[in-house]
Amino acid sequence: MNPRRVVPFGRPWVTDADRNAVHNVLSGHILTHGPEGKAFEAEFAAFLGGEAYCVSVSSGMAALHLAYLHWGIGPGDEVIVPAQTHTATAHAVELVGAKCVFVDCDPATGNVTPDTICAAFTSRTRAVSLVHFVGVPCAMRDIVALAEARGVKVVEDCALALGARYDGKHVGLWGDAGCFSFYPVKHITTGEGGMFVTRHREVAAAVAQWRAFGVDRTHSERALPGMYEVATLGMNYRMGEMPAALGRAQLSRIDQNLSMRNANFTTLKRALAALDGVRIIDTDDARAQNSHYCLTVVLEGRLAPLRNEVASRMNALGVGTSVYYPHPVPRMSYYRQKYGYTPASFVAATRISDCSLALPVGPHVEQADIAYIAETVRCVLRDAAKDA
Ligand SMILES: *Cc1c(COP(=O)(O)O)cnc(C)c1O
Repeated sequence: MNPRRVVPFGRPWVTDADRNAVHNVLSGHILTHGPEGKAFEAEFAAFLGGEAYCVSVSSGMAALHLAYLHWGIGPGDEVIVPAQTHTATAHAVELVGAKCVFVDCDPATGNVTPDTICAAFTSRTRAVSLVHFVGVPCAMRDIVALAEARGVKVVEDCALALGARYDGKHVGLWGDAGCFSFYPVKHITTGEGGMFVTRHREVAAAVAQWRAFGVDRTHSERALPGMYEVATLGMNYRMGEMPAALGRAQLSRIDQNLSMRNANFTTLKRALAALDGVRIIDTDDARAQNSHYCLTVVLEGRLAPLRNEVASRMNALGVGTSVYYPHPVPRMSYYRQKYGYTPASFVAATRISDCSLALPVGPHVEQADIAYIAETVRCVLRDAAKDA
């Protein structure tokens, strides 16, 4: 079988309007600290809905790091961290000197659950971090209740979950902080970039200060150019005007973006439903609105050990795939050496890392591509099982 179509796993959806928006910034004189960043923050808050304060930053990881810096979480403190996530979720905790306490996930959704979180609390726990895995929101009402009862913060990693809601409320607004990423394969992109979101005005103000060297006033607030004071430490985690302009243009198409993802996911899920040994990561919780970052299939039974073989055969046939994520974070060398690694504690996360494959559903995927992806999955699984 030769590739009849080529469908990359992810491809940023960039239009002429996006290019013009970036060009317009370059035609002016303000490359940072300008109106685009402010407008992007306001428009992002409007999309999330409800009471949201947004701080644009240089990456999703920067947003996560700022959360722990802001709450002064550090040495001697513990943070509960999902095993099945991007390494950034854990690195942000490590960088402030706190200890990661990893927890396994629900095999059906890839998400941490109130039960897995509960078992990990100690007297040193200061925060619970969680990731809405591939766009499936965690059970936020129960998780927030648990955290509030213990007086600990909730940091939501929303890098794969723009558009995901729980009980109608956008993810990132349930906990104390929500951290979004605009890396090229995410729902929308600014090249590199991120957004810190919170329901608390004073948290946003303090984080905005942490983002910019701890300086006490922005450019526009300075009576005399160049004059400012510093009362706290800080980073330079700002987003410039070119990425902010791109982000605004991208965000203006978010409804269309999400509905294309929804349609692609639904069609592909239906086309794969009858296959033996294939389970699809999704939610059946009526309160949870998936934002369809990708469609993750978990191979089971005889197919389970064949993931890498299946991926290379799919790629050879023109269908791009990815793996979210290639290891449970505690199995990565840095964490394994630091904390030790007990495979039995992370059975579900290990299963997803080792036996799952992420398929494309982004706006670059056409309906005819979906039929091709489904047909390719069917043929490759049949052949791989036969050859094994
Ligand atoms: C991509 C990703 C990040 C990192 O975001 P950057 O913008 O690349 O720093 C963090 N967490 C998760 C779950 C991600 O998928």
